[in-house]
Amino acid sequence: MKSHDSLYIIIVGCGRLGSYLANNLSSSGHSVVVIDKEESAFDSLSSAYSGFRIAGDAAEFGVLKQVKMDKADLVIATTQEDNLNLMIAQIAKNLFDVPKVMARVFDPKREKIYRDFDIETICPTTFAGDLFLESVILYFKTKVEGSPS
Ligand code: AMP
Repeated sequence: MKSHDSLYIIIVGCGRLGSYLANNLSSSGHSVVVIDKEESAFDSLSSAYSGFRIAGDAAEFGVLKQVKMDKADLVIATTQEDNLNLMIAQIAKNLFDVPKVMARVFDPKREKIYRDFDIETICPTTFAGDLFLESVILYFKTKVEGSPS
């Protein structure tokens, strides 16, 4: 599975975020396995998706073994549950020695905990917040510059 021209990627959660990543990474030529506890979640995968779909609860160790996590180059935990994502990321890193592990974390306060465990996180809350603020600043600037002095 570990080849030089593509990565073996495990994506946990096939909802709005996981399916987006799976579709894009699969069409970029990577070997993708996506796990979701709801079979219906796989409906979000595009017809071009060429990876595997595993229906199962990622909180169960057997499911992580089934997808050969020890062979993965990259694991991305994208469920809507911060604690579960942290648990999966820790297992991937510490038990399966996955070289790169990323996790979605909604609660900005938890980001520090993840960082302490050396897990790369993306916080959609902070990310969206920064984009909103940027847009407000731009709007304010346009208003000030556009208003008569
Ligand atoms: P979304 O918030 O739309 O990106 O969706 C998150 C996805 O994570 C949903 O499709 C859930 O079914 C999935 N999910 C949540 N908990 C688990 C779990 N324990 N095992 C596998 N998938 C899960």
